[in-house]
Amino acid sequence: MWPNNYGVWADEFESLGLYDCLDKIWPMASIFIDDEKTKYFDRAYGRVNRKGLKLKFLSHCASNGVKFNKAKALKVNHEEFESSIVCDDGTMLKASLIVDASGYTTNFLEYDKPRNNGLQIAHDILAEVDSHPFDLDKMHLMDWRDSHLSNEPDLRASNSKLPTFLYAMPFDSNFVFLEETALVNRPILSYTELKNRMVARLRHLGIQVRSVIEDEKCVIPMGGPLPKIPQSLMAIGGNSGLVHPANGIPWLGHWRLPLSLPREFYNFGMETLLQLDLDGIRRFFDAFFKIDAYYYRGFMSSNLSIRELFVMGISLFWRASNDAKMDMATKSSTNMARMMGNMALEAIVRLK
Ligand SMILES: Cc1cc2nc3c(=O)[nH]c(=O)nc-3n(C[C@H](O)[C@H](O)[C@H](O)COP(=O)(O)OP(=O)(O)OC[C@H]3O[C@@H](n4cnc5c(N)ncnc54)[C@H](O)[C@@H]3O)c2cc1C
Repeated sequence: MWPNNYGVWADEFESLGLYDCLDKIWPMASIFIDDEKTKYFDRAYGRVNRKGLKLKFLSHCASNGVKFNKAKALKVNHEEFESSIVCDDGTMLKASLIVDASGYTTNFLEYDKPRNNGLQIAHDILAEVDSHPFDLDKMHLMDWRDSHLSNEPDLRASNSKLPTFLYAMPFDSNFVFLEETALVNRPILSYTELKNRMVARLRHLGIQVRSVIEDEKCVIPMGGPLPKIPQSLMAIGGNSGLVHPANGIPWLGHWRLPLSLPREFYNFGMETLLQLDLDGIRRFFDAFFKIDAYYYRGFMSSNLSIRELFVMGISLFWRASNDAKMDMATKSSTNMARMMGNMALEAIVRLK
């Protein structure tokens, strides 16, 4: 069984034919910018039924004749017409195409740029509580309020510089998933600090935990470069950020180019968020949720074209407050120049 709790946009799971693998769906999501401003996002969010999803994947595998070999891959070899994988149980598997799904820490893929990823860190609990203040029909997506730190000057000061938010999935009035999250860091926020902020927040919200059913430390690498292209392995999942359904060898310029440019834009977004303090983050999300829903939904689902991303960027700037415009002008200009340079370089290399 997979250990982590997963939440997803319900329409994304539906489009993958996985809607029946959600065990709870909230029709809306709420975003608390601060104590005065709350936004409601009219998009259903679901909690993944881990057992159901795994069974569904396994039954698809079984009905399509997939064979499993339970072993660790130690080495991959590539020859002119065939590749092979050496496993720690002594087996050697031959293949015409190897797909590397071994996650972010892959030993097999090559990258031609430094892997300067950001990190999302979170502490979370699935808990039985005496009561909680959350609406049961809304997923509590991002809560940037910091009033719970009024009596904690040290935590408040550090939260102003490296802010964290609460993400909560209320299942019923006594059962809730709670997660204190640093959206993206480099270097990473201390885990103890994260836990202390969560304790202060729960106390302030009047949440008394009766029992912790599951708890997890979550560290997710975000952003970073794409794997080197061409290479003899196909990357999929967290090691690539680019999931293509066809065979990846060779990855041809005419379809790869439109996908790698948005990726530069997403990295630019991450680098900008890394520079923002709590006030900057609030200004950013305040403007972000004012743009046309088509764009912010698409941005969150990573399915906007490069043209749409630029339209979104202009719209975001247009709707931003003067302070947020100033943030963008001062904190993202270097990243913007880097993004444009990388895009130009990428276009030249791929179109050669
Ligand atoms: C606590 C937590 C909560 C998260 N919550 C969410 C969420 O709510 N929504 C969301 O979208 N994302 C979430 N994520 C992120 C998500 O888990 C990752 O993005 C995703 O798991 C990456 O998938 P992957 O298959 O590429 O890699 P992984 O899930 O890391 O899987 C890689 C697999 O390959 C195996 N492996 C590695 N090396 C070898 C080898 N040499 N030989 C054989 N097998 C090998 C590993 O054992 C592992 O099973 C969460 C992550 C964590 C840690």
